Amino acid sequence: MSTLHTTVWESCLTVIRDNISSQAFKVWFEPIVPTKLENNVLTIQVPSHFFYEWLEQHYIHLLKKVIKKEIGPDATLEYSIVIENNSNQSTPYTVKLPTQNTSNLQNPSQSVPLQATEPQIRNPFIIPGLKKVTIASNLIPSHTFENFVEGECNRLARASGYAVANKPGGTAFNPLLIYGGVGLGKTHLAHAIGLSIKDQHPNKTVLYVQSEKFAHQFIDAIKNQTTNDFIHFYQMVDVLIIDDVQFFAGKEKTQDVFFSIFNHLHQNGKQIVLTSDKAPVEMQGMEQRLLSRFKWGLSADLTIPDLETRIAILEKKMYASGIELPKEVVEYLAYSINTNVREIEGALNTLLMQSSLNRKAITLDLAKQMVDKFVKNTAREVSIEYIQKIVCDYFDLPIELLKSKTRKREVVQARQISMYFSKKMTKSSLANIGAHCGGKDHATVLHACRTVINLSETDKQFRVYLEDLEKKLTIN
Ligand code: ADP
Ligand code: MG
Repeated sequence: MSTLHTTVWESCLTVIRDNISSQAFKVWFEPIVPTKLENNVLTIQVPSHFFYEWLEQHYIHLLKKVIKKEIGPDATLEYSIVIENNSNQSTPYTVKLPTQNTSNLQNPSQSVPLQATEPQIRNPFIIPGLKKVTIASNLIPSHTFENFVEGECNRLARASGYAVANKPGGTAFNPLLIYGGVGLGKTHLAHAIGLSIKDQHPNKTVLYVQSEKFAHQFIDAIKNQTTNDFIHFYQMVDVLIIDDVQFFAGKEKTQDVFFSIFNHLHQNGKQIVLTSDKAPVEMQGMEQRLLSRFKWGLSADLTIPDLETRIAILEKKMYASGIELPKEVVEYLAYSINTNVREIEGALNTLLMQSSLNRKAITLDLAKQMVDKFVKNTAREVSIEYIQKIVCDYFDLPIELLKSKTRKREVVQARQISMYFSKKMTKSSLANIGAHCGGKDHATVLHACRTVINLSETDKQFRVYLEDLEKKLTIN
């Protein structure tokens, strides 16, 4: 009987594993330890309060379903949260579920101090043979968590960054590796972590450095025969943030020195945060032993923000610069620039500059001209999403209907027109257009295009619609 909880939990995990990504499973379910099952209450032990909140926010429905299936309809779940404290009391903090409002919960870190005394040397920057060195953290003050808009595209990276900032060196996320394409917010997030650590733990030494700079410093150290000082310097920080580690690829000596610094810091419970433009598996020219260390902690990716997040980012930036843009301009920018956040920012800045230089009001027309002239590549092409929005606005239909399967006449017509313009104005495949328009297949899209062409030849009113819409969609 004593292992019943383990068996039950194993069965739960089997179902959970099939329902979420393997990365999420590894991060959020592997660390859980089932501790008891009594009176239909299954108790699971989780490593932190943050962990518990994350489960509550993201997996509670799945957990409830699985537990009821395995134990019965009256089953409930209880968490016990492991708290580390200095006095060696190991009374885990217990939270009973189902809970409605997590914010009402007492915060365990308030009742039991996580670290009453800092076991660190007061001033670690006295290096033998060197004068006292004060180091600047190299953090950009505006790159805070508050200024970093949350979205599906960055949820895991942001949340794990947040966890690391609350408890540097004290989470399973060590190293934390944030990866993703250019302009998606890796550097911003890395700074946010550093800033938040400095804010919450003022006596921790945080150091942000770009890999390129690290590599150059190292070369200088070799030249000046000061490699030991170089290594000591880096080994003495509490939090080391290295941006764009992919730069180390192919640089064996730099990788070796970084390897030894990494090991020293990790062994001493210091936090390491890395960013890279590639996932560890795709990093060519990086030593295996380093790659395997990158995988010790958590790798979280950043992807291209969805439309709502792009709008939220634009609004945040506008607010920061104290300027208000017409809603249609904001929407146009968010719809048409879907490459990365840096380009969105660039477009916004160019637009603001253009308007102040030429003393022109920021109108949709100006935005269109600007995007056409200044924004590179993909932005020149209207997107399927933008076409759908313009068509739906024109016919006064909610865009969700267009994406749904409904066969109401007006919706079908708007959907067919969207497909027609998507075929005509974007490089998307028929299958992709179909997928955006209520999950239709390529034959349906082709049929829609033919219907639109036929109607435009026979129906005068319909032709007017098309001409109006074409004008609205053309960027010039
Ligand atoms: P990367 O390092 O991935 O190339 P950056 O961190 O330099 O990208 O981000 C590019 C720009 O976009 C920065 O100015 C940053 O502030 C902004 N940015 C990126 N993601 C977000 C976000 N989620 N919210 C607000 N601004 C963002
Ligand atoms: Mg960067």
